[in-house]
Amino acid sequence: MSPAPPARPAEPRAADPCRFPGCGEPSVRHLSLAEARRAFDELPEEGRRAPLCRIHYKEWKRRTKDARKLERLGR
Ligand SMILES: [Zn+2]
Repeated sequence: MSPAPPARPAEPRAADPCRFPGCGEPSVRHLSLAEARRAFDELPEEGRRAPLCRIHYKEWKRRTKDARKLERLGR
């Protein structure tokens, strides 16, 4: 029996501001930049990760959900 594994060294979540231009809220999620740019063209192409704040993460989910739905409809 092993004890629960220690939490992985957390990503520095709160430390990174949201990557969305002009936002700067503390991020709650890190997406890969490529993934984030599927919803947000306006993200600067810099680095590989795109921290997003709660609001923009929600918006990202909404936009990528629409995209997925469209893909399904296209079949
Ligand atoms: Zn934001």
